[in-house]
Amino acid sequence: ADSWMESAEAGHDDVIGWFEHVSEKACKVQSQTLRRILELNSGVEYLRKWLGTANVQEMDDYTLETLFTSLVPIVSHAELDPYIQRIADGETSPLLTQEPITVLSLSSGTTEGRQKYVPFTRHSSQTTLQIFRLSAAYRSRFYPIKEGGRILEFIYAGKEFKTLGGLTVGTATTHYYASKEFRTKQETTKSFTCSPQEVISGGDFAQSTYCHLLLGLHFSSQVEFVASAFSYTIVQAFSFFQEIWREICDDIKDGTLSSRITLPKTRKAVLALIRPNPSLASHIEEICTELESNLGWLGLIPKLWPNAKYISSIMTGSMLPYLTKLRHYAGGLPLVSADYGSTESWIGVNVDPHLPPEDVSFAVIPTFSYFEFIPLHRQQNHQDICSDGDFVEEKPVPLSQVRIGQEYELVLTTFTGLYRYRLGDVVEVTGFHKGTPKLSFIYRRKLILTINIDKNTEKDLQRVVDKASQLLSRTTKAEVVDFTSHADVTARPGHYIIYWEIRGDAEDKALEECCREMDAGFVDHGYVTSRRMKSIGPLELRVVERGTFGKVAERCVGKCGGLNQFKTPRCTTNSVMLKILDDSTVKRLRISAYD
Ligand code: AMP
Repeated sequence: ADSWMESAEAGHDDVIGWFEHVSEKACKVQSQTLRRILELNSGVEYLRKWLGTANVQEMDDYTLETLFTSLVPIVSHAELDPYIQRIADGETSPLLTQEPITVLSLSSGTTEGRQKYVPFTRHSSQTTLQIFRLSAAYRSRFYPIKEGGRILEFIYAGKEFKTLGGLTVGTATTHYYASKEFRTKQETTKSFTCSPQEVISGGDFAQSTYCHLLLGLHFSSQVEFVASAFSYTIVQAFSFFQEIWREICDDIKDGTLSSRITLPKTRKAVLALIRPNPSLASHIEEICTELESNLGWLGLIPKLWPNAKYISSIMTGSMLPYLTKLRHYAGGLPLVSADYGSTESWIGVNVDPHLPPEDVSFAVIPTFSYFEFIPLHRQQNHQDICSDGDFVEEKPVPLSQVRIGQEYELVLTTFTGLYRYRLGDVVEVTGFHKGTPKLSFIYRRKLILTINIDKNTEKDLQRVVDKASQLLSRTTKAEVVDFTSHADVTARPGHYIIYWEIRGDAEDKALEECCREMDAGFVDHGYVTSRRMKSIGPLELRVVERGTFGKVAERCVGKCGGLNQFKTPRCTTNSVMLKILDDSTVKRLRISAYD
């Protein structure tokens, strides 16, 4: 049944046939998956520590699952981090996997303020290829596209670096774009990205975006759909286009490339692809003039890419705020929500590409990892601005025992050496696809600040603010008495705002230093990359007048009672609270740590 994976020729039906088959007996497949993971990695240091010398090969499925879940603890990244660090430092004895790890991925979030690494293996690229093929197959059922067409894809590979032990580190997408699987995907799905590798891996968001747009227009008649990893990027790209479309038209007319593209390799690769095309340029100019003056850019995408059938990217979860703008650019084009996964493992595929993003759920792929589900129960009285949105937990259950309507936190056991690893995502089971659950993504637990691919928790924020407020106390006679934050997703580019109430006097110079310190202080890889590429703007520090947080507390307590239970929310999107804060703002500072 797995033969299609090896075959570049396998058609959409083979791929879907395989998935229907494994979903049908998902519970059994999950047991087999756990067995395979444990057999492949039997004897590694981490498993020996918990399982001793138990011989997994001789156990039946039930005994194996029971043994595994009763002996191996549920952990967070922090607990596996010492093992991953040893791998990063070059230790070669089998610690987490039997297969030697030579590549590490940067997952979102941090571990005690340090970047979070997870192992990356061939299995990681293979499952990426597999889910992309599966997803393309489901999409084509609803929205068939022409073979050999192009994708206007806003994708960006980051930089890679080496650890002390000589392992390569980068994001999972960076590894993927550099892998042979990325080329295989284009060949087997018979759809080709408009931009060459030199544009994808240019490393500067604005320059790469400019080239993606230019080449997208150059190949406009062949473009079958528009895509990106997360929809924030598409919205940013088209909002940038509104400003620079005339420049792009000039380049198309003359076959030139704007001087804003300074990266030599990128320039060379793009110039090799384009030719002067005055008639296309004047056609685009006509459409853009109309879009700009009469339509407020409504329907930009279908107007400029008349053969595009849909737009595909992750639109769920933290991407929901960008939907309105995306729909505006899309005109009537369908929005197809892309699949659900993480650096640690792919999780589920969107088997209903025709549903609007608000209603999408993901069918778990039972061969990719062994999944467990911690039932979560929301605490009462946690609404409005007082909500800290946390849950009461129950004992984890396997895939075979999940219930519709229940919320869970996902726990993964992967082929890449993570055992009973809390992913931190909260999902709800909305139904079943054959025998496998469909999950709707609720949110990342404890995540508070996110705009793009950046993900920061309350702990990360606390650490950053602590450092900056120590700096303030050292350099002035002032101190921070309370704070909160807000991710401004409506700005272009989006950015973080930190609100401070301070006691005592501080000169602007000192506050500027604090602001820079905080911009530099978020070390989550998604934030660092987005800041470097300028897809997230510099952090803003707003100083509010004395007593502001008192007003916030009053409002909060007025709504849900109990001053002794009140905690200042460390991040807010609540309009009442934001209004109080903004009305009380006395100073705004913005100093970039990334110039
Ligand atoms: P990373 O490991 O940095 O790639 O981030 C993975 C996280 O992104 C997941 O754990 C989710 O919180 C979020 N994510 C990934 N795919 C989706 C999706 N389709 N919808 C909503 N959130 C997603």
